[in-house]
Amino acid sequence: MQDALVLPPQQALIGGEWVDTATTLQVEAPASCEPLARIARSQEGDVKAAVESAHQAFSGQLGEWASWSARQRSEWLLRFANIIEAHHEQLAQLECADTGKPMTQARGDIGACARYFRFYGGAADKLHGETIPFETDFAVMTLREPYGVCAQIIPWNYPSQIFGRCVAAALAAGNTVVLKPAEDACLSVLRLAQLAVDHGLPAGALNVVPGLGAEAGAALAAHPNIDHLSFTGSPETGTHVAQAAAQHHVPVTLELGGKSPQLVFADADIDAALPAVVRGIIQNAGQTCSAGSRLLVQREIAESVVANLSERFAALRCDAGEADADCGPLINARQKAKLEARLAAAEADGIRVAAKGQLAASAPSGGHFVVPQLLTDIPEGHEVLQEELFGPVLVVQVFEDEAEALALANATDFGLCAGIWTRDGGSQLRLAKGIRSGQVFINNYGAAGGVELPFGGVGRSGHGREKGFEGLRSYTRIKTVAIKHD
Ligand code: NAD
Repeated sequence: MQDALVLPPQQALIGGEWVDTATTLQVEAPASCEPLARIARSQEGDVKAAVESAHQAFSGQLGEWASWSARQRSEWLLRFANIIEAHHEQLAQLECADTGKPMTQARGDIGACARYFRFYGGAADKLHGETIPFETDFAVMTLREPYGVCAQIIPWNYPSQIFGRCVAAALAAGNTVVLKPAEDACLSVLRLAQLAVDHGLPAGALNVVPGLGAEAGAALAAHPNIDHLSFTGSPETGTHVAQAAAQHHVPVTLELGGKSPQLVFADADIDAALPAVVRGIIQNAGQTCSAGSRLLVQREIAESVVANLSERFAALRCDAGEADADCGPLINARQKAKLEARLAAAEADGIRVAAKGQLAASAPSGGHFVVPQLLTDIPEGHEVLQEELFGPVLVVQVFEDEAEALALANATDFGLCAGIWTRDGGSQLRLAKGIRSGQVFINNYGAAGGVELPFGGVGRSGHGREKGFEGLRSYTRIKTVAIKHD
């Protein structure tokens, strides 16, 4: 039996205070379309006030943030990791209801959020510049400095994890933050922000402006006084915000989509590979930028692999997140309609649905469910091989040898992740070097989320890196100091 949800304020967080916005937005549970909560609908004026507060906090005019040493930031971040863990179940229930994802996955997301605060808390006082040998009468050093005000626009698929990834790293490096969470799912983010201010985060260090992308998001990306912009979401919106930020020469990190391949060779450990292939596409109902959404399988095992996967897909059940089935609903009606249109077009083009999962009898009516599907017999270059479907749909292609596997793996504009399943060491390394993507996993997929592992894309998947120590560096810039002496 689930406890009553602990809902966050229906306000924006600006300068350490929860502030009313002129209007609010209704949030619905994706599993049932029942009303869940109301959130603030921040407008340009709210965003301006949030950026101003973040500036004041960074420059020492508001709160204590600017006076905190790296050690003090580290201590607070580590303490906050414990606070998240102390509220783990409450936050997971909120995440589950708000995103529709199964409870086990929601619990994992809150755990990962705490791990980000612990990782970046541990790293905050270990981030340093260098000394550089130069002329004999010089001492030269680099200082690794925070940017200042970091604008962060995040999506609805992993709200608490991406909050941890972006906010913990930016604060660890000494920045202040203005965060625009997604209108479709932001309750856990608001609750996390509430816990942060209630547990001693100085005023103005973190500001949160919930609202619509076209209003609060656009106002934040175009604001002339932000110093860095990190965006996670669609390539289209990413292009838009990067253009807005370029007007003011603001550096941008873009984490966009993917069409990541899983390559399964005939010599692979099939018992390890296939469960990971299924997990890689059904996790969060396929609404994961790093989903392993293309299966490339070697010809001699293709038939048996498709038969094996068909059984696994047929056994998958969709239900509301609280029921903890294999798959929850999609986030909203728009995402469902977009996916169903693409699936209908694929079927009309003769693509075979080799297997489908099922909607559990207990699933609420009216939710945005699309059952997991395995697609085969796909014409070369078809849209389903190129476009991110952002649903639990795996497309299968067959290859003859390593060269063809590599060519197929690289035959999209995206380049976020890849999984390689083979026992051949040479093949593992040649493919790891040859595949155009930001992460490559050999005989695993996703490295269990890998808070510590740098993450980011190439091409249409974006640029810049978050996560790991590299993610911390990316929230700093280098200043060179050259001292001439006698
Ligand atoms: P989106 O990119 O439009 O939204 C992501 C964030 O950007 C949200 O906070 C949104 O409010 C904000 N936003 C939207 N328009 C904006 C604008 N003009 N200026 C500034 N901010 C703006 O994504 P979506 O429409 O919710 O989903 C559509 C597709 O995006 C999905 O089908 C999927 O392919 C992709 N997506 C990718 C990720 C990811 O993790 N890379 C996450 C969510 C969605």
